[in-house]
Amino acid sequence: MGQGLSCVASQENELFTAVQVGDFETVETLLEREPNLLHHTTVYDRHSALHIAAANGQIEILAMFLEKSMNPDVVNRHKQTPLMLAAMHGKISSVKRLLEAGANILMFDSLHGRTCLHYAAYYGHSDCLQAILTAAQSSLVAVSWGYARFVNIRDGRGATPLHLAARRKQPECVHILLYNGALVCASTGRYGFPGSTPLHLAARGGSLDCIRMLLAWGADRLQRDASGRISFVVALKHKHGACAALLNPSSAEPLVWPATLKFITELNEEAKSLLERALMEANREREKNILKGTAYSLPSPSHSDSGLDDCVSEASDTEVCCICFEQLCTIEVQDCGHQMCAQCTVALCCHNKPNPVTASLTTLVCPFCRSTIVRLVVAKMKCYDDTNRSTEEDSTSKPRKSRKPRNFSEGSSSFKSLSPIGSFSKIGGRSSGRFAAENEWIDKP
Ligand SMILES: [Zn+2]
Ligand SMILES: [Zn+2]
Repeated sequence: MGQGLSCVASQENELFTAVQVGDFETVETLLEREPNLLHHTTVYDRHSALHIAAANGQIEILAMFLEKSMNPDVVNRHKQTPLMLAAMHGKISSVKRLLEAGANILMFDSLHGRTCLHYAAYYGHSDCLQAILTAAQSSLVAVSWGYARFVNIRDGRGATPLHLAARRKQPECVHILLYNGALVCASTGRYGFPGSTPLHLAARGGSLDCIRMLLAWGADRLQRDASGRISFVVALKHKHGACAALLNPSSAEPLVWPATLKFITELNEEAKSLLERALMEANREREKNILKGTAYSLPSPSHSDSGLDDCVSEASDTEVCCICFEQLCTIEVQDCGHQMCAQCTVALCCHNKPNPVTASLTTLVCPFCRSTIVRLVVAKMKCYDDTNRSTEEDSTSKPRKSRKPRNFSEGSSSFKSLSPIGSFSKIGGRSSGRFAAENEWIDKP
């Protein structure tokens, strides 16, 4: 009997080793000889062969197991599923294949009561995190649990995936989670210091990128944890000086992703990400002043060295923004059709904060014609061909109006205060050659 056991044990080991290193043929041969081996587990952790394949990204073997109708939700000693291990190790192909096979995203381990989403966030595998969120949108979870609830799912100590990503300095995961509706001000239960917000945890970890992101999404610098500390105090305690400077309640407030934008219908993904980049860029400009300790000044939308230029610099047919005369127009206001750059759009939207007295959102209006902004879209390049021009849609739409800075300064004195005076004055100082060239792009009435 002892001999039989040891024989099985050695076959087991052979199988697990073959799975780990991706030796497909050996796995196949072993299973042909002894199909039951598929249901064996490792001695201590009780990992199944599927766990090992998932964690090591052995996608062919994983697929073979699933085709043999192995349960994708088999659990090990800690009630971890293969999906959790794949998310932990960042094996995106395993994650995708398991999700295709219908793996349950709403399983909790017995270590910390965490889901696969917690694992992806904690270990910072943003691709896995995104894949799980995409699956959640289309799965029964969205129906039975609600998608927003899943994004904000808590572990055994009250930590959401956002808390874990912030604590572990994973800005990309923080971003994806916020974008998908993670609550920026949620307090933990017992995780970290009780009552910590994602901002407290980012301050503890010392990640400037995470702090920047959280502040831009409206995290409150004055929110206290259960022992009464604001995140500024946490950053100071852990000697994260730059983080503390941003979190200091007396330093300039960052621009916050404007609530008004959420009410503009059909803000498409492309426009959204353009505006978001402009917002983060503007905040970085503000930070420079905070970190320098100099007097605070309004952010200038002129960032010739910014990454934003990458996407617009080649668009030679596009017009220069008539508010700042610096950036190219990338955002179009509808229905009026006026265009401006993403930076100026963000400045406009951030200026229209909800009125604290009436607690109502002020309506966003176009700085050029004062008509209500119905939606913002990515500006089309100015190279209309005749086919486009002659379509019925075009002929019924309003004619494109001239975009003279004059219109803007007459119409909106409040907006003027936000716009960088510096960039206007720069116009005169420019070499005449360059200004003339830019002038040609501006519509003449
Ligand atoms: Zn502009
Ligand atoms: Zn307009």
